[in-house]
Amino acid sequence: MGDFTRNFSRHEFACKCGCGYDTADFELIIVLQLIADYFDAAVSINSGSRCYMHNTKVGGGKTSQHLYGRAADITVFGVHPDEVANYLERVYEGKYGIGRYNSFTHIDTRSWKARWDERD
Ligand SMILES: [Zn+2]
Ligand SMILES: [Zn+2]
Repeated sequence: MGDFTRNFSRHEFACKCGCGYDTADFELIIVLQLIADYFDAAVSINSGSRCYMHNTKVGGGKTSQHLYGRAADITVFGVHPDEVANYLERVYEGKYGIGRYNSFTHIDTRSWKARWDERD
């Protein structure tokens, strides 16, 4: 049992540099819980919130939603990243940011639609 929802806790969203920045958007948390429920599988947050320094270090864009606690790079146990992205694009057609990568899926709750594909 997480302290946010059944599957998620605040510490999972914390910036990986150890600065303590761990703000997470409520809407994002709900979306992630729905993913866990839909696939009935564990969801790992590889990267959640990021401070400016860490975001720069990992090559994040200047306006990355990770800076605002509105983004998560996730993997769903036993589910291919493309399948996760397909699900998100189907359910959130016309909204949010969804990015396809080789080993994870990016989801953010920005107020406009964005899609990108960084797969090799
Ligand atoms: Zn940090
Ligand atoms: Zn991301």
